[in-house]
Amino acid sequence: MDDKWTYDELKAAVLAYVEMRELEASGQPFTKKQYYRDLAGKFGRTEKSFEYRMQNISYVYSLMGRAWNSGLKPAKNVGANTAKEIERIICEVEGRENQQVATFEAQVSKHRSQKSLGKPLGTKQPKQYQSSVSSYQRDPVVKAWVLRNANGQCESCGNAAPFINWAGEPFLEVHHLRQLADGGSDRVTNTVALCPNCHRALHYAQDKPVLLDALYAKTPRLIRE
Ligand SMILES: [Zn+2]
Ligand SMILES: [Zn+2]
Repeated sequence: MDDKWTYDELKAAVLAYVEMRELEASGQPFTKKQYYRDLAGKFGRTEKSFEYRMQNISYVYSLMGRAWNSGLKPAKNVGANTAKEIERIICEVEGRENQQVATFEAQVSKHRSQKSLGKPLGTKQPKQYQSSVSSYQRDPVVKAWVLRNANGQCESCGNAAPFINWAGEPFLEVHHLRQLADGGSDRVTNTVALCPNCHRALHYAQDKPVLLDALYAKTPRLIRE
C-alpha cells in the first residue's frame, strides 16, 4: 500500500489538505472529492489513493498531537519513511521548525508492532541536538519495549490506559525517572509507562519523591541514577 510517492505528489496532497483545513475552519463550503479528482488528474493516481493519503496525513497530525480534518479519519497504514516525509512537508508548508515528533512516534509504532522486539541496550548518554527548544535523541525501541512491557497498565497506579490511540494501541506515556535534562539515560532501567495523571504527578506532584520511591520499590528492572 505504501508504494513510493514522489515529493511533488506528497507536497500537492499536503497543500490540498492544509487548504481544506483552512476552508473548514473558516466555514466555507468545499468538496473533498473535487480535490481528489484534481490531484488524480494531475498525477495519474486514483482519487481513492489520494483520499487515503489524506487520511495518512491526518494520522501524522494525530502523532503530532494536532487537530486533523474532520471526515478524514487518521489511517495508520503509512510507512515510517513516508510519515517522516509528510511531517517534513507539513512543517515546510506551515513554516515551522520540524521537531520530528511524528517521525519518532511512527518509528516507535513500527517497532512496537514487530513480532520480535528484543530488549534494547539503549543509549547511556543520548546524543543531544540543538533546536529552538533543546531535545534529546531518544531510542524508539526503548519506548516501544517499555510500552509493550506495561501491557496497557500504568506502572504507577496500575490502572488501565485511559484510551486507545489511532494506531489501536492503549495510550500510556513513557517517562524518564531521572530526566534526560538532568543527565538521565534513555534505557529501560530509567523509563516507565504511566497514565497521563501519574505522568503529570511524577513531574509536578508535591509527593513526587514518595511516588518515585514506590515505583523503584515495586519495579525490579528500574535502577536509580
Ligand atoms: Zn497511573
Ligand atoms: Zn516525563
